[in-house]
Amino acid sequence: MLDRLQIRIYGIVQGVGFRPFVRRLALKYGIRGTVCNKGSYVEILASGSRMQEFLSAIPEEAPERSAILKIRTRELTENVLLPEEFQIIESEKDEGLVFVSPDIATCPECEKELFNPKDRRYLHPFINCTACGPRLTILDSMPYDRVRTSMGEFPMCPECHREYTDIASRRYHAQPVCCRDCGPELYLLNRPERGDEALKEIRRIIRTGGIVAIKGIGGFHLCCDGTCDEAVQRLRTLKHRPFKPFAVMMRDMETVQRECLVPEAAETILQGPQKPILLLEKKETGNLSPCLAPGNPSIGVMLPYTPVHMLLFRYPDGESMPEVLVMTSGNPSGAPICMTDEEAEKYLLPMCDAILSNSRKIRIRADDSVMSFYRNRPYMIRRSRGYAPLPTVLLKEYSHTVLGIGGELKNTFALLKGDMAYLSPYIGDMADVRSVEALHLAEARMEQLLEITPECVTMDLHPKYNTGEVARKLAKEKKIPLFEVQHHYAHILSCMAENEYMDPVIGIAFDGTGYGTDGTIWGGEILLADGEGFRRMGSIRPFIHAGGDKASREGWRIAVAMLPEETTAELELGTPKERAALRFMMGNQVNTIPSTSVGRLFDGVSAVLGLKERNSFEGEMSMQLQFEGEEELRRRGDEPVGIHYENQRISEEENFLYLETEALIQWIAERKLAGESSGKLALLFHEVLADMVSEAALRIREKTGVNVVALSGGVFQNLLLLEMCQKRLEKNGFRVLTHSLVPANDGGIALGQAVYGAIQMDR
Ligand code: ZN
Ligand code: ZN
Ligand code: FE
Repeated sequence: MLDRLQIRIYGIVQGVGFRPFVRRLALKYGIRGTVCNKGSYVEILASGSRMQEFLSAIPEEAPERSAILKIRTRELTENVLLPEEFQIIESEKDEGLVFVSPDIATCPECEKELFNPKDRRYLHPFINCTACGPRLTILDSMPYDRVRTSMGEFPMCPECHREYTDIASRRYHAQPVCCRDCGPELYLLNRPERGDEALKEIRRIIRTGGIVAIKGIGGFHLCCDGTCDEAVQRLRTLKHRPFKPFAVMMRDMETVQRECLVPEAAETILQGPQKPILLLEKKETGNLSPCLAPGNPSIGVMLPYTPVHMLLFRYPDGESMPEVLVMTSGNPSGAPICMTDEEAEKYLLPMCDAILSNSRKIRIRADDSVMSFYRNRPYMIRRSRGYAPLPTVLLKEYSHTVLGIGGELKNTFALLKGDMAYLSPYIGDMADVRSVEALHLAEARMEQLLEITPECVTMDLHPKYNTGEVARKLAKEKKIPLFEVQHHYAHILSCMAENEYMDPVIGIAFDGTGYGTDGTIWGGEILLADGEGFRRMGSIRPFIHAGGDKASREGWRIAVAMLPEETTAELELGTPKERAALRFMMGNQVNTIPSTSVGRLFDGVSAVLGLKERNSFEGEMSMQLQFEGEEELRRRGDEPVGIHYENQRISEEENFLYLETEALIQWIAERKLAGESSGKLALLFHEVLADMVSEAALRIREKTGVNVVALSGGVFQNLLLLEMCQKRLEKNGFRVLTHSLVPANDGGIALGQAVYGAIQMDR
């Protein structure tokens, strides 16, 4: 172990007592040196013989409110003189060192004060301190000072000001600090109730089965009793959302333990400073309404992360509240989450019985983050509140700044500067003009906050995306170059960047839809990729996507394109008339386009197995297929499926690999008609697809010597498939790169786009 190191620690490491903690550790291990805040990271210069112990103690003993995303070390070769006694150095704000903190969940100390009748902030719905409270969502500009936040309109009372200026106080320099005398106030929209009365009334409405909207940190939630079928069902009707799972907020950890299976690592994250929604397996013995996530073994769960949430569950008015509340984003279908009273009144009032708002304005939208767990690590699905705008640290420093505008679905954009890329909060699906407007707003704000003026813009190759229009407009206004990046290449680059690996990889991009360089729909791609570009080495066997959007929603149409008429008739996929119309379109090439989308393939198989006929939300059919496979796996444990797939898995034509997925779906259809169980076939489908991936990687390794595989694209939210692929690849000696804190879905491609732009600019 080297005994002189520069250590950089990235994550939530500001204002959570991190530097004093480092100093204590250093003294304990006899380390000499310094620690300093450097904007988005803390830097330690250290020298000593017990360096290894010191290094491993940092993540193990880090302060409770901190969240370390990455530790990077390098040998300290410069001739820096380190002080004998370990020192905390005051941060001088260097050029280019900006730190915009994500919003931080209410800390345990503030929670204690909130429910302490003797505390002067007893039941104060906006209690916060130096270690917790809103940040990104109230910021106007940097540096982070009260006047440059939406708290600027609430002058501090003398007592709050005293705490704010007292270095010994928990609220020293806490910009949003306030109390009942000087802070914002709760109120019901279009009704007279204010303050505690407003809160009590909202609790009453929830308790009696009503639906309310509640203003949170990054937008409004729609909320109702999560144990009441009627309330949940009514919310589904009002929100036009028949099946898509609702996330819930549970009163406390005990409730979560009672309702769900909680892996150990998940507990820390549930209670941590970021409080994302975690996907957890439901217990059969729980009280949850089955309408929350119909047909889904898991549910999205979070714990209260603002004082208002805590008061919602525990306000001491003697009434008992449900311990599980639906907390779903308050937005009309397709549009971004509502942020202002005007939006709430217009869009949410028709969906609920009352709206609890407050006078602290939200400056930028931030939906709740959603994550699941893979191999004991977080596996991000939606990266937003609590994570945005924490940077992703890149392998190297780039000399130009870039804006990656992001994907058309699940849009998130990225700003890149130096060796860091900042992913924005989740914006939404760009088919809706309101989302486009939200993208414009958020992009301008993030540029300002992060002090990044992009020198180029990157966008998806698709000629008709709204994001493309935004990118073109920005490039023109700023007079900067614009680059197009193929969708699946951006996915793979994103995975590479997150793993700090930029040498050639075999990229497996399994996805819903992306525009290919040949103008067809891609989505089952095998790319040989590095930072400079990619070569398409193979794909799944193309099929005909007929009938545009309808085929994306109705998986049976995909199945019909891949199966003979007798088989589809026997399986009763669509009516004879519908099938005839479809076959006519295919025969005459009307409204048809070749596709290699694995997302659609999943839909097709799902339809063949009779699991679901159509998607009421994106990915519904694929998810059913995954659940069916997972359940089968649980049932049989290690016992093999007992049926074998003997057909050829892969073929090669003119140096291009085809995964023979059409033959696979035909075989599955035949077995289904022969009476084989859907569970077995669902599981087998996953296994054979994973075999194909691994076999393709082997063939490409033979040709190229590349031994690293990157797995990305929305289909890899399917952890059953991900695990099967990774296991096979590792068995064959591959190094496998997977996502963790950057989503595998389209919410992550902005990172790949941004990195591509940076590389192009540096050429
Ligand atoms: Zn606090
Ligand atoms: Zn005050
Ligand atoms: Fe995608």
